[in-house]
Amino acid sequence: MLAAYAMDVRHSRGRRYPEPRHPYRNDYARDRDRVIHSRAFRRLEAKTQVFTTRYSDHFRNRLTHTLEVAQVARTVAGALQLNTDLAEALALVHDIGHPPFGHAGEKQLDRRMREFGENFDHNLHALYIVEQFEQSYLDFTGLNLTFEVREGIVKHSRTYTASTFSQLSEYLLDQHPPLEAQLIDLVDEIAYNTADLDDGFEAHLVDLEQLSEEVPIFAEAWAEVDCRHHSAKPKLKFNAALKHILDLLATDLIENTNFAVKQSGAKNARDIREHASRLARFSDARAEANHELKRFLFNHVYSHPSIVEDRDRSVAALDALFSFFLDHPDRLPRQYVELAAHEPGHRVVCDYIAGMTDDFLLRQCQELLP
Ligand code: MG
Repeated sequence: MLAAYAMDVRHSRGRRYPEPRHPYRNDYARDRDRVIHSRAFRRLEAKTQVFTTRYSDHFRNRLTHTLEVAQVARTVAGALQLNTDLAEALALVHDIGHPPFGHAGEKQLDRRMREFGENFDHNLHALYIVEQFEQSYLDFTGLNLTFEVREGIVKHSRTYTASTFSQLSEYLLDQHPPLEAQLIDLVDEIAYNTADLDDGFEAHLVDLEQLSEEVPIFAEAWAEVDCRHHSAKPKLKFNAALKHILDLLATDLIENTNFAVKQSGAKNARDIREHASRLARFSDARAEANHELKRFLFNHVYSHPSIVEDRDRSVAALDALFSFFLDHPDRLPRQYVELAAHEPGHRVVCDYIAGMTDDFLLRQCQELLP
């Protein structure tokens, strides 16, 4: 049962190359499955989320983060009677354009591209992957995803203007994406804020007293758990508090989005697109709590000396490899050498490096750099 404002697959703008219908999977479900079967998706396993594997084998990587986002997205979309197949496809694809070494890797690639008056943007890179890089079908390059999935890749987390991004003009840049896509960015935040705290605690980077002081939503959750299970192991109490926070944020997102849609008077998916603002949102109180969580992670986990040291080393490796391939384009794999005949060298090098896993990049450094 879909809400009237959900994205109905029968109203999809379809694929770039028309294909016959599948007998029992709708187009968004097929898109989800194509993403899962793509090479770029498998490579997420060996890309850093926050902690490199140096810390522990059971911390999140970009693949397990992605699965957590998909799980929360399905729950939130289902509770709102939105299209869960579309939401799941969008969640699974949302980080597919991420380069090695998390945000630090992305920033460094961007910095290098700016030397040439260009930039690196993981959403646009994701679009490039699903349109060009993935080559496993006989009849087309890329995954031939539906319009709404490609649109969601571009628009889930930010707005692009047609004047600056003319190459994206087909994606209705003057409209919001469907609610299924609007949710993804907020669900992503719920997933990584709670997961990064969890991994940060495991890595002994989180001080419980400090966390309670700076993040009231945690203090409340912890007090409640501690009151009922005072003598339980701290790690289990911490888990229970985190689960409670995740639940509070997801529930708030569901309820507040539902409220915002009702208030807006939106009757269908088109009204959602044309509304003055995005309608997927937290309440002000929970948005603030989410912000406090984020601030705590920035101040105490992401900027922790051991994380920073790891990050600096990774970024330096990425940077050195970028310079190496710029100077020696003949050392690129053959298909990239061919690409370099039609495209600027820095763009080819950037795309090649962006596709690498952390490990592959480090191995390349060992093999190629003096
Ligand atoms: Mg993400």
